[in-house]
Amino acid sequence: MRSIAVLGATGSIGASTLDVAARHPDRFRITALAAHRSVDALITLCTRFRPALAVIADPACEADLRSGLKTAGIDCRVASGPDGLVEAASGSHCDTVVAAIVGAAGLASTLAAARAGKRLLLANKEAIVMAGPLLAAALREGGGDLLPIDSEHNAVFQCLPAKRADLSTAGVRRILLTASGGPFRGLKAADLGDVTPERACAHPNWRMGRKISVDSATLMNKGLEVIEAHYLFDAPVERIEVVVHPQSIIHSLVEYVDGSVLAQLGNPDMRTAIAYALAWPERVESGVPVLDLLKVARLDFESADLLTFRCLDLAFGALNAGGNATTVLNAANEEAVAAFLEGRLSFLAIAETIERCLAHAEATAPANLAAVLDADLTARTHAQRIIATLSG
Ligand code: NAD
Ligand code: MG
Repeated sequence: MRSIAVLGATGSIGASTLDVAARHPDRFRITALAAHRSVDALITLCTRFRPALAVIADPACEADLRSGLKTAGIDCRVASGPDGLVEAASGSHCDTVVAAIVGAAGLASTLAAARAGKRLLLANKEAIVMAGPLLAAALREGGGDLLPIDSEHNAVFQCLPAKRADLSTAGVRRILLTASGGPFRGLKAADLGDVTPERACAHPNWRMGRKISVDSATLMNKGLEVIEAHYLFDAPVERIEVVVHPQSIIHSLVEYVDGSVLAQLGNPDMRTAIAYALAWPERVESGVPVLDLLKVARLDFESADLLTFRCLDLAFGALNAGGNATTVLNAANEEAVAAFLEGRLSFLAIAETIERCLAHAEATAPANLAAVLDADLTARTHAQRIIATLSG
């Protein structure tokens, strides 16, 4: 029996995780649930899953959560704020942590889970982009396993040999990350001037939170995933390639020196990756319908348009630049996407904001969490100034 803490329980990945877990009450017990501010949604989940601990990230919501749980007759510990999230991620109630908070807000709890030796199921890609080397160090310290939930990395994980010293000794030539191309595939900058948040969030294949949906529309999501792959698999940037595959059936591929290319296929439904990571090294049913290849009928591939979707190029650039560039990239992107979703910044100005912020990146890599948070804050300040200029 695995005991599981779900951080970001009220989001898209949180819901898929709880759906899979509920199918296997004999294997999975939910022992902690954490959310940002959605008190009512969290109480509903607590009523259903009866965790030992409920955490609301915004301390201003703690009183409401307490009284709501009391009214519902739920007896569980309640915590809030950053310490509450860290407790949910590292306390003795769980051996497995699903890190599904969106953005930098998930970094401290993700690191805490790794340091505590939990099995870490990582959806929160921003954490590894901001602080890849720190997360690796925390995992070494804690001695637990990291299992990627991001569908591409989950696919790569499945296509790599279980025991490997490094990619070269495993005979890996390249990691091929597939990208759907997002809702604006095929369009040019001239078509994207007046894109609304609603259009950007209307992804053709996946239903996701709003931030990652915008990232998919700019292709920054793939950029973040290139950086994620670099840190997860210790893969040099020149061994990582992006292939646009509009059907989102092949979730990624690994190419070997003998010419073999292994791929993982499935319907675009995150429950496959989540079920794999929850049950690893076993397999369990996920609720995902069987893949009907005859209905899919064809699989297409094209190259990414880096001129139109500059964010992907900026991410490769940040990874090549090293130092604190990927931390800056992530912070600037989070600020720009938030401004776009609030109607304060145009779609095309997202890339512009990030590029200008990257000019302030430093050559020294952040050595600890405080240095990462410092670089993150500085980049956000720069981004806000740039956003004000670009939107004015
Ligand atoms: P979402 O917006 O649907 O959910 C985000 C969750 O994080 C919510 O539960 C919210 O309460 C919580 N949260 C937000 N801000 C917080 C804060 N400041 N403190 C604590 N909790 C906070 O997002 P999502 O689509 O589920 O994505 C979550 C993460 O998973 C992201 O990093 C995303 O990139 C990654 N991911 C998502 C998908 C997907 O299909 N949705 C696929 C791959 C990776
Ligand atoms: Mg992905």
